[in-house]
Amino acid sequence: TEAPVTKAKYGPLADEDRIFTNLYGRHDWRLKGALKRGDWYKTKEIIEKGPDFILNEVKTSGLRGRGGAGFPSGMKWSFMNKPSDGRPKYLVVNADEGEPGTCKDREIMRHDPHKLVEGCLVAGRAMGARAAYIYIRGEFYNEASNMQVAIAEAYQAGLIGKNACGSGYDFDVIMHRGAGAYICGEETALIESLEGKQGKPRLKPPFPADIGVFGCPTTVANVETVSVAPSICRRGGKWFVGLGRPRNSGTKLFNISGHVNTPCTVEEEMSIPLRELIERHAGGVRGGWDNLLAVIPGGSSTPLIPQSVCNEAIMDFDGLVAVQTSLGTAALIVMDKSTDIVKAITRLIMFYKHESCGQCTPCREGISWMNKIMTRFVTGNAQPSEIDMLWELSKQIEGHTICALGDGAAWPVQGLIRHFRPELEERMRVFHQKDKKAAASN
Ligand code: SF4
Repeated sequence: TEAPVTKAKYGPLADEDRIFTNLYGRHDWRLKGALKRGDWYKTKEIIEKGPDFILNEVKTSGLRGRGGAGFPSGMKWSFMNKPSDGRPKYLVVNADEGEPGTCKDREIMRHDPHKLVEGCLVAGRAMGARAAYIYIRGEFYNEASNMQVAIAEAYQAGLIGKNACGSGYDFDVIMHRGAGAYICGEETALIESLEGKQGKPRLKPPFPADIGVFGCPTTVANVETVSVAPSICRRGGKWFVGLGRPRNSGTKLFNISGHVNTPCTVEEEMSIPLRELIERHAGGVRGGWDNLLAVIPGGSSTPLIPQSVCNEAIMDFDGLVAVQTSLGTAALIVMDKSTDIVKAITRLIMFYKHESCGQCTPCREGISWMNKIMTRFVTGNAQPSEIDMLWELSKQIEGHTICALGDGAAWPVQGLIRHFRPELEERMRVFHQKDKKAAASN
């Protein structure tokens, strides 16, 4: 049984348990600074111990993917552990961070690029991969140049390339810049784009571990997931699993944006209460906690939760599912009572409409339809019965598309209806009252 979450258990994350440097200033991100902080320490031994050792530590750690889906990383990486008929295996790092509200991977690549390069080598070794492709969001110009410098430094120091770290293992790291499409953050669209094609998601199966980039076995993993692998192997999976709570272990980068006093990216222990996270690190909600309207807890694709639910919400996979939302990318978008919540969610739907690749009818037509209804909801120029119609429409999109973009568009709408139905009805009432008055005066 899980230990009950109490406020007292979660003091600030101790500095010795911190993996990333972003909280305490802009350290030297180059190789010299990274070595001083302990990166690349005993990497040779880790590589020499081989895939079983790395997979075992990652499985023990309970690490779950940090890109949004939360799949157990050790299990995912072990899918590569089978014969490949002579084809090379690849690790592809998803650095195409485009989810609105999310900028955690950006911070890693800005301030800790060597953690990612070292992580590529360690995770790549676990999978038997000969190279890692880092697919980085096109807009991340400065981050791409920092990464490129870090990769060049690692090659020059013999840490990657032929005989990486002197371990006898050959491993290359190649960076590839995207061109601005949100959909390329979806793993199979990313693979298509990496191959030089349009970024359109593939039907699964076959899964990338069987047929991935260039027809070879591939694992696509998020920047944060890959970057924590060396620390887990150095300090042991048992250390990582001791943080957070069962099934939700470790530390995590959280982005806190919107109506807070000090927006920030911060590393904290998993399972921290949502309110405590905002108050400890982001200076609290603008105008005080009572001025909070709602929070989108995990990037724009996760359903919002109102203040009453935020009081009890726990920031981890299970804690947020319990309140009908999800951890997603752990990017909190905080909205105070000055927010026009209908307008805010409509703006998100416009984003998904724009970014849909157009392959599936429910996504292409459904989101466009939702956008039209929501635009009328903003002014109130709709009938109350359309609220149920919008709900039904979102349900027809959810789970009926090739990739998760359709779900990502449906869930914010469902969150709005679930928690703010009276607000929608009131708008329509006010609009129709005005309409009637105008008609009477004519
Ligand atoms: Fe493209 Fe949308 Fe279908 Fe995803 S769900 S494949 S974005 S049309």
